[in-house]
Amino acid sequence: MKVLKIDHLGIAVNSIEEAKKLFHHILGLEFEGTETVQEQKVTTAFFPVGDSEVELLESTAPDGPIARYLEKRGEGIQHIAFRVENLEEALAELKEKGIRLIDEKPRKGAGGAKIAFLHPKSTHGVLIELSERED
Ligand code: ZN
Repeated sequence: MKVLKIDHLGIAVNSIEEAKKLFHHILGLEFEGTETVQEQKVTTAFFPVGDSEVELLESTAPDGPIARYLEKRGEGIQHIAFRVENLEEALAELKEKGIRLIDEKPRKGAGGAKIAFLHPKSTHGVLIELSERED
C-alpha cells in the first residue's frame, strides 16, 4: 500500500459555529462550508491548510459516534486521516497483516471521498482513517 500524505486531522467539537471563530476568524484558515453525513450522524467542516486540511466534526444526534466521543473525552483530535492510492488494496493488505479494521469495505465520506477506519486497538490508540479521492 502507499500512503500519499496526511489528508486531514479530524477534530471533534461541540459546535462548528463556535470553533469556526478560532480556525477561520483568528487562524485565518479558509472555510469551505459544512456537509452533513447522515449515516454517521455528523456535520463536518473542512479548512484547507497547505496540502492537508483540518476537519471539524459536530454531532447531529446524541447517539452518534462524535457525541459519544465528546461525552467520554471532550473536544479534541479524534482521528488522523491518511490519503492512500488505492483503498481496497490497502484494506486487504492491512487485514492480511492482522490489523483490525472498523470498516472492511470503503464507505462514503464527506466530499465524495472513499474512506475506512482502522481500529485504535491495532494502531496505538490513534483512530486512523484511510481516504481515497480523485483530486
Ligand atoms: Zn475524517
